[in-house]
Amino acid sequence: MGKVLSFLARLGARGEAFMKGTAFDCRACGQCMLSQTGLICPMSCPKGLRNGPCGGTLGDSCEVYPDRECVWMRINRRRSGGLTTLPVLNPSPDAALYFTSSYANWAKGIDIAGTRALPYHEIPSGRIALPVTTQSRLEALLKAGRFVLTCEVRSPRSADFSHLYRELDVVRGSFDAVNATAYLNGKPSLPASRTSAEIVRAGVEPICQITCRDQTKTTFVSELINNHVNGVVNVLCLTGDSYAGNPRIKQVFDMDSSLMVYEAHHLRETGTIHFTGQAVADPPRAFIGVAINPFTRPINVPIRRLKQKAAAGADFVQTQLIFNLPGFRQFMESFCDEGLDRELFLLAGIPVVISRPAMQMIPHVPGVDYPTDIRQRLESATDLRAEGCRLARETLEAVREIPGVRGAHLMLFGSDHSVLSEIVDGIGA
Ligand code: SF4
Repeated sequence: MGKVLSFLARLGARGEAFMKGTAFDCRACGQCMLSQTGLICPMSCPKGLRNGPCGGTLGDSCEVYPDRECVWMRINRRRSGGLTTLPVLNPSPDAALYFTSSYANWAKGIDIAGTRALPYHEIPSGRIALPVTTQSRLEALLKAGRFVLTCEVRSPRSADFSHLYRELDVVRGSFDAVNATAYLNGKPSLPASRTSAEIVRAGVEPICQITCRDQTKTTFVSELINNHVNGVVNVLCLTGDSYAGNPRIKQVFDMDSSLMVYEAHHLRETGTIHFTGQAVADPPRAFIGVAINPFTRPINVPIRRLKQKAAAGADFVQTQLIFNLPGFRQFMESFCDEGLDRELFLLAGIPVVISRPAMQMIPHVPGVDYPTDIRQRLESATDLRAEGCRLARETLEAVREIPGVRGAHLMLFGSDHSVLSEIVDGIGA
């Protein structure tokens, strides 16, 4: 009898998957969100994000399949009514229910953990004016009203830290914190948490970049604990680019970036791991950052996404590369009109293009708005290093005057970190 019931359950699940697959591109997650997402299946997003869009969206195109419309842009169009209201925070699906019938799971009430919106944390409004809550020097500087400067270094691929130390030597003193990146395009390296620990040892404050592309919930929280042990107090929660052209790598997306923030904030404020309910003695108290693409349009999309990340517990945001200043100004007007300038510290993403091979990559970086006039300016430069530094300095000086911008994050297209200190000379403070 048990075998017969089991067979019928599998048959029902296959039938449901076929019917809904034909009608809604269903991926058989077994915990259906269609009624909350305007009859558009969020699992048909190639990253399977339950909250989106990710930062790779520009126009309406999907980052992974540019010939397709982004699933979350479609959901936004159907559900937001063009407004900037705070979206709900969907939980990540329960992997144990995949390939089972969502109807049966709904009838049994076992789909709730994967479908019911999470309650947002109770966070006082106007939080950028609240007292410092973490050990982060970056937080202290921002709350003291300093225009902060950050840049980034790549994690080494070996135990040889000499290159990393040389890069840190040339930015130390000019930058308030340094992002540690890792796993670019799916290529192995030391984890960003390990590099961050080394940056602490070098006397510089790191921001540890972690992508949900590469992490399960378990490893993400473990990385937070690892960071805490190593004195790493800033974390940047990212979706992560798709490993385009590297399809043999399994991308995780056990969470999306908003859910990473929710988990990190919950751990910081309650001392418990949200998804397991376990208490953590001396929990990590990270200063939590996120990213946003200010060039995604319509503009209510990045505004709603940022509201969601702020409500989930984000403290600061670093933006996508700014080549399009008018587009960035337009975004910042909405950012301030919506009161996000009182909830989040925003650091503007400044590109520093000094290498021709690196410059050729820019049009292929997902989500980058690269206007033709800027592209021509860089491509026709006889001295790209000088022109790239000039453009970066101009952009930096311009964003500094824009209300709501509290700092800048410099991203280098090249390998000579020594130019960064020259570009920011006299900008901080
Ligand atoms: S949310 Fe899950 S059950 Fe619903 S259509 Fe998408 S994959 Fe299928």
